Amino acid sequence: MGFDTVNLSATNRVASHPFDLSGKVAVVTGSNAGLGAGMAVALAEAGCDIVGVSRADAGETPARVTAAGRRFADVRADLASIAPVDDIVRAAVEAFGRVDVLVNNAGIIRREDALDFSEDDWDAVMDVNLKSLFFLAQAAARQFVRQQSGGKIINIASMLSFQGGIRVASYTAAKSGVLGLTRLLANEWAAERINVNAIAPGYMATANTAALREDAQRNDEILSRIPAGRWGAPADLAGPVVFLASSASDYVHGHTLAVDGGWLAR
Ligand code: NAP
Repeated sequence: MGFDTVNLSATNRVASHPFDLSGKVAVVTGSNAGLGAGMAVALAEAGCDIVGVSRADAGETPARVTAAGRRFADVRADLASIAPVDDIVRAAVEAFGRVDVLVNNAGIIRREDALDFSEDDWDAVMDVNLKSLFFLAQAAARQFVRQQSGGKIINIASMLSFQGGIRVASYTAAKSGVLGLTRLLANEWAAERINVNAIAPGYMATANTAALREDAQRNDEILSRIPAGRWGAPADLAGPVVFLASSASDYVHGHTLAVDGGWLAR
């Protein structure tokens, strides 16, 4: 076995790397901050051009994506209603010619005792976290079918897709719905070579959990229950999102992957 042979096989392995996303286009909602920003940058580092959907300000994500050598299309949309979903897909196609990956990440949380929970806190969370997630998945899947390309849809679930939680009625309902919807869409679309899966982050240090981390007692309770002994960070989702966006996961359908430092194993 000579040097050339070794070198050639190494080159071939790199060219057909199952996690390589070169030339792919990913739409990421809520890409301006927190977990969405982390996943957008991870997908760019794996080779994707990024269509970042933000409500107001795209944040540092465009600069981080271009620093990774990829293109960034800045799309502004408020996913409190489903009005923008077709325009988001249209904007992605106008910018980069196609869509290969959708990360349904945008989400909100409202905290209140169930006895006092308001209709507004119910509707606001359900609209962003479940209704817009479904209709954007539908718009992306229609594009995948038009392209005859297959595609990858990654929904962001939660520990509260598996557990009840407390004081977050609409969030638990929505995230439990995300897990079920991920399975249903996988059943309907697997034959179209569309993979629908979800990532269920554990307790991650972002704006979404600021109130929990500021409450010393809740912070200690949560930390002491995480086998990994720390809050998660956006970078902890990099490997899982690249896996679910890539050909490495072509036979993975309808799965919700917990990325939780072992929380659910307790
Ligand atoms: P975050 O920092 O608060 O980010 C939420 C993102 O969603 C922001 O980009 C936000 O945009 C966007 N968003 C909210 N409402 C929107 C709307 N109406 N239209 C468009 N975009 C909207 O929190 P995060 O922790 O990164 O959350 C990201 C996802 O992970 C959410 O689905 C959340 O439920 C889920 N999750 C988080 C954790 C955790 O521990 N952090 C755990 C499990 C699941 P603005 O900046 O404009 O508000």
